[in-house]
Amino acid sequence: MRFVFFGTSAGTPTRQRALSALAFSMENDGEWILFDCGEATQFQILKSDFKSGRLRDVFITHLHGDHYYGIFGLINSFKMAKRTKTLNIYAPKGLKKILECIIDISLENLGYKLNIIEFEAYQTFEFDRCSIEVLPLLHSVESFAFFIKEYDISDKIDFERLKKDGLMPSKEYGKIKRGKDVDTGDRVYHAKEYLLKPIKGRRVIVAGDNSEPEILGENLRDLDLLIHECTYTKKVFENLKVKVLHTTAFDIGKTAEKYGVKKLALTHISPRFNDEGKYPLSLIEDEVRQNYKGELIMAKDFLEINLKRDDM
Ligand SMILES: [Zn+2]
Ligand SMILES: [Zn+2]
Repeated sequence: MRFVFFGTSAGTPTRQRALSALAFSMENDGEWILFDCGEATQFQILKSDFKSGRLRDVFITHLHGDHYYGIFGLINSFKMAKRTKTLNIYAPKGLKKILECIIDISLENLGYKLNIIEFEAYQTFEFDRCSIEVLPLLHSVESFAFFIKEYDISDKIDFERLKKDGLMPSKEYGKIKRGKDVDTGDRVYHAKEYLLKPIKGRRVIVAGDNSEPEILGENLRDLDLLIHECTYTKKVFENLKVKVLHTTAFDIGKTAEKYGVKKLALTHISPRFNDEGKYPLSLIEDEVRQNYKGELIMAKDFLEINLKRDDM
């Protein structure tokens, strides 16, 4: 699993950090997924090795401008590039209305299909090698996390049992090996029940803006990777005149440690934290470290995380 941060700032861009966006792809997959699409994300894509023509799905965590204003430019550029492939956009309720308005007034004929899926909490979307579940967070507008669960796989399956249950040898067996359920119309064969010595899939949560990491609860237990916002340190937060619903370094460190999160990547950093000013980034790291003992990754633009499976 490969993750590349395209934007890591909170609220407004800085000279070092663009607004929220994160690219995700699985090994040997030609297509990729984008989580959030802050303003100017298309420039970041151009500077990376991700091809915008291969972008298949966009997931938006919430409808604050710093997380999705880049989508307008992106869909316009796809029109200019004469894209024909469908683009799927998964977002909270409201984005459909916004995009329809933009398309109607400004873009007219897109030339490709925009498939907008407005999700609700706890909805799960199935893909070829993983599923993505939508989890609710706590923020000033509805905000969500995306729980990526790679399917368990195995090169050994229980042929006898599959045959007994009515699924004869066919290409569907390959799907079962890849951990994908098979639906024949008469019956659903759950891959999990037929895998012998399965290799456990990786599990990652990509969270949007959130003031209470604890809300993710047991989903965090022994998680391989948590990508979460960390807008403030506790000290800075306590001195804010107007309190906003974001996470502090202290809270995220405490929660990640409590649930045994293996890797913690922090993003959505308030522009006040930079190594040239009064608030160096080490303030955040030090505060997280008061509690968290696992692998800590401080995100910056174009930072890459390659998450290997235990067996690889
Ligand atoms: Zn934000
Ligand atoms: Zn927000």
